[in-house]
Amino acid sequence: MKALVTGGAGFIGSHLVERLIRDGHEVIALDDLSSGRWENLAPVKDAPGLHRVEADITDKAAIRPHFEGVDWVFHLAGKADIVPSIEHPDIYYATNVQGTFNVLECGRAANIKRLIYAASSSCYGIPDVYPTPEDAAIRPQYPYALTKYLGEEMVLHWAQVYGLPALSLRLFNVYGPRSRTTGAYGAVFGVFLAQKLAGRPYTVVGDGSQSRDFTYVSDVADAFACAAASDISGKVFNVGSGHHYSINELVGHLGGAVEYIPKRPGEPDCTFADIRRIHAQLGWAAKVDFATGVARMLEAIELWREAPLWDAGSIHDATRSWFKYLGDH
Ligand code: UDP
Repeated sequence: MKALVTGGAGFIGSHLVERLIRDGHEVIALDDLSSGRWENLAPVKDAPGLHRVEADITDKAAIRPHFEGVDWVFHLAGKADIVPSIEHPDIYYATNVQGTFNVLECGRAANIKRLIYAASSSCYGIPDVYPTPEDAAIRPQYPYALTKYLGEEMVLHWAQVYGLPALSLRLFNVYGPRSRTTGAYGAVFGVFLAQKLAGRPYTVVGDGSQSRDFTYVSDVADAFACAAASDISGKVFNVGSGHHYSINELVGHLGGAVEYIPKRPGEPDCTFADIRRIHAQLGWAAKVDFATGVARMLEAIELWREAPLWDAGSIHDATRSWFKYLGDH
């Protein structure tokens, strides 16, 4: 197959590109390099089937030619992180909503065979039900979550109205080597690994009893591959490990001292995917357990040497808008 991966130089995108190349597909990795980098594709850089394109999905004319002759589109390009989404909703709308519209329209014009969208489990907000099934209430808590959800709605709408074969995967807390090492505060693994390298305490939010469905990135790449190979369309699937692990457990695996920082408004005490649907319909299940995944992160810890080093004070400053807008007002 000829596959186009938007966000192909990013964290999850680069693992997916690697997986598709190893499966023998031809792959166009398209990225604007705002947070991705071509070095992420180093393991497959000499593969004859890999093509790199620097382009921004908000520029429809620039991306359109790269859809010619493409069978599968994996749409992972997007703006992540909570605080910048609160401060600059326009940028998040442009990339995550308008950019997704552009990808759908280019895909439709090029008559692609399938589109798989990287959606976010943040659409569930603070859920009532655990494990959380796909038909749980939708409650985005901040513009990142809202714009990713609007993108998902468009993908499903294009499947419904235009018959574009498409699926949406709601990803739960993806972790693994190459998770972002620059920019805004966010994603606990990068924060903690940089702290470990510097011999500084881990900044644990609340009492650390909150838990997340941490899902290892190669399992996520596998879920995209399963989604592309299936002929189901117009559906949403949770992609999670089917377990949940507390921050205290994570600290136990990493080892070292902690300092506690205030609990943040609008964040769930637990994320925990109900993965029965994806298991039944796509035959997918996570393979990498948490201890193994964390051990692999520790083997790759040098990757976070250049990551920003956060402490209680700098996190307090960086999350001002979070407390201001998501707290009671
Ligand atoms: N977390 C933490 N310290 C940090 C950053 C995050 O204890 O410096 C916790 C946070 O409370 C949450 C989990 O780690 O329970 C995952 O946070 P992340 O920002 O990675 O993802 P999200 O909150 O979007 O699930």
